[in-house]
Amino acid sequence: MRSINDQCPCGSGFKYKKCCKLFHEGKLPKNALELMKSRYSAYAYEQVGYIVKTTCKIEEDMQSFKAEIAQFAKYTNFEKLSIKEFIDGEDEAYVTFHAKLSADGKEISFSEKSRFVKKEGKWCYESGEVF
Ligand SMILES: [Zn+2]
Repeated sequence: MRSINDQCPCGSGFKYKKCCKLFHEGKLPKNALELMKSRYSAYAYEQVGYIVKTTCKIEEDMQSFKAEIAQFAKYTNFEKLSIKEFIDGEDEAYVTFHAKLSADGKEISFSEKSRFVKKEGKWCYESGEVF
């Protein structure tokens, strides 16, 4: 179990309670990069509600969407997040990252270029291209 005194999974070097926890409690990320990092931390801390809240698309089947996130978060070890590129924009931004993950002793790391859009002043995760 992770503690709120542990180092934040986003890689900031700060404790979780002084970093991404603030976003999970309602602070608005100032850009898509902060949002991306806080979403990674949300998975690590099983903050399913935050993932749902910061996903642009409204899923038809919210119940299974939440269950999927919860399942993934619970059985995955979020070892390291590396940001490769951040392309900022007025209401559209891209973050390319590598997530070092494992589950059940197996490595399941991946890289993704995520697209974020700003809707009504808030950044949200629109889509991602995994490679
Ligand atoms: Zn953080």
